[in-house]
Amino acid sequence: MATAQYPQINPPQRLLMGPGPINADPRVLRAMASQLIGQYDPAMTHYMNEVMALYRGVFRTENRWTMLVDGTSRAGIEALLVSAIRPGDKVLVPVFGRFGHLLCEIARRCRAEVHTIEVPWGEVFTPDQIEDAIKRVRPRLLLTVQGDTSTTMLQPLAELGAICRRYDVLFYTDATASLAGNALECDAWGLDAVSAGMQKCLGGPSGTSPITLSARMEAEIRRRKCVEAGIRTAAHQDGEEEMIYSNYFDLGMVMDYWGPERLNHHTEATSALFAARECARLILEEGLDNGIARHKLHGDALLKGVQAMGLETFGDLRHKMNNVLGVVIPTGIDGDRVRQLLLNDFGIEIGTSFGPLHGKVWRIGTMGYNARKDCVMTTLSALESVLNHLKFATTQGAALQAAWDHYGSGDAA
Ligand SMILES: *Cc1c(COP(=O)(O)O)cnc(C)c1O
Repeated sequence: MATAQYPQINPPQRLLMGPGPINADPRVLRAMASQLIGQYDPAMTHYMNEVMALYRGVFRTENRWTMLVDGTSRAGIEALLVSAIRPGDKVLVPVFGRFGHLLCEIARRCRAEVHTIEVPWGEVFTPDQIEDAIKRVRPRLLLTVQGDTSTTMLQPLAELGAICRRYDVLFYTDATASLAGNALECDAWGLDAVSAGMQKCLGGPSGTSPITLSARMEAEIRRRKCVEAGIRTAAHQDGEEEMIYSNYFDLGMVMDYWGPERLNHHTEATSALFAARECARLILEEGLDNGIARHKLHGDALLKGVQAMGLETFGDLRHKMNNVLGVVIPTGIDGDRVRQLLLNDFGIEIGTSFGPLHGKVWRIGTMGYNARKDCVMTTLSALESVLNHLKFATTQGAALQAAWDHYGSGDAA
């Protein structure tokens, strides 16, 4: 076959300032370029153990079962839900954006009885609203999203763990877009399960999903049967409960593969694991709290700049994620045309929006490797130029000055 029309892959240079994916840290790309090794090579199982230890640091947990699910963030979500939800279980999902609807959809596929509460997009729930719904529904699981990138809002979780304990509810959150850019204290907040993804604040490529399970969640999962194909694994005790419907996402089997039994399940995605290990290593080297402060610094600088440009922002700013900003598209401006000019003429990608916000809001991210001053200044400068080109008047230079003022130096130091 002639391959002349398939030249060597060489993607364009882009600055990814949307809600994810973002540019991977070059050190992560270098880690991924390492040669493959066998899945039971002592070097490989050692790396797997290191990944477990490193992600305990990132999740702020002592949970033994802190590991990767191979697949994008959605794989981690689905593995946790399909392993934890038994048919007929009641689950409660507070929905404040698109990813709440995703949790509902997956829970329904697991044959859960799904109950929701909703607030308008751009808002979050108070703990009282969630407690009231728990009292009314009496769910077995509370499924939350911490940072819903569709609305840029961050749901406060700190008080929900104690509420869940009081009513004997298992507490899960999807922290895909928030982990490492916003505080998440898995153990201190009483979370039973958390899942994440690489291509947001963790600064890597999508393809693995770090998850963590409390001992309580582990025990619930181990009660599920695993006998149909004559499979008995160390993780499964003689449970009476319905079998987990997925083999790939059966966390009992995934635990046996990551645990000392090393029972063969899948072949760990080696290059992706190297990437995930380097992401966690870099985060802990910087210091998790320092990294979160960096996301806040650059997220706020972007916010100040956008406001100084005369643009309106979306949602309740008291509950904004550090790492993504919703910007209302001004009347008379074609939002897609702006994104196209940014991409074609500046190599900068910003995000559009879904559902009710489509065509109304851009989403600009400052996360992971791109939570940096130069990325913020470049993006503000390009956005202002494009808006001026399309006849949206700004006080020229005010946006950059507001960002410089926020950085506190008055110059580009
Ligand atoms: C980006 C995002 C996801 C998407 O995950 P994939 O990696 O695309 O599977 C899930 N949840 C939230 C909250 C997200 O922001």
